[in-house]
Amino acid sequence: MAYVIPQPPQPFLPVAGTDERFPVRRIYCVGRNYAEHAIEMGHDPDREPPFFFQKCPDNLMVGGGDWPYPVASADVHWELELVLGLKEGGTDIPAAKALDHVYGYAVGLDMTRRDLQGEAKKMGRPWDVGKAFELSAPCTAIHPASEVGHPDHGRIWLERNGEVRQDGDLNQMIWKIPEMIEYLSGLFTLAPGDLIFTGTPAGVGAVQRGDVLKGAVDGVDELTIKVV
Ligand code: MN
Repeated sequence: MAYVIPQPPQPFLPVAGTDERFPVRRIYCVGRNYAEHAIEMGHDPDREPPFFFQKCPDNLMVGGGDWPYPVASADVHWELELVLGLKEGGTDIPAAKALDHVYGYAVGLDMTRRDLQGEAKKMGRPWDVGKAFELSAPCTAIHPASEVGHPDHGRIWLERNGEVRQDGDLNQMIWKIPEMIEYLSGLFTLAPGDLIFTGTPAGVGAVQRGDVLKGAVDGVDELTIKVV
């Protein structure tokens, strides 16, 4: 049977160093997963249960490059994050087995229209307009865990125009990756192709047109965008 409109393209991340593709099904993001970032956003850093929101797979922008300043916002923030991709899904995945479900890791930006997100928070509305907009998820190629391992410590950082603005360590995550997968798989049926943005360290801030954002998770990859 034929589709009645053109079939939308399958979003994907390139697999680093190959001509293969990792197809993306869903994008989950965890909020406030580094204590210092929770504090800078005005929240208690105590270990509350993790919470999640989603971006749309077609919000991905693969690799770096020119990043158009988005519409409808005057306060757009960077959030540099470690991203993981699942090769296996399931429900109620125990933390002890969670890493067996991970295909690999990438570096992404959870770009955020902070003014729209702030309004949504105030009104008790969903975060979608602040988080799930066009090109809101720049991301590097994905690196198989067979090559980069399962990083649980190491520097995660971002420079704006050459000045260090975020400088954290993966070991500062409040909810570790296996716990995050366990928790998320109790809420949703996870599947191959799902990405999880694992949260951002302190030091988020607003971009201006002309800014160059360069960020990395050491040992995984580096991502650079220019705001145009
Ligand atoms: Mn984030």
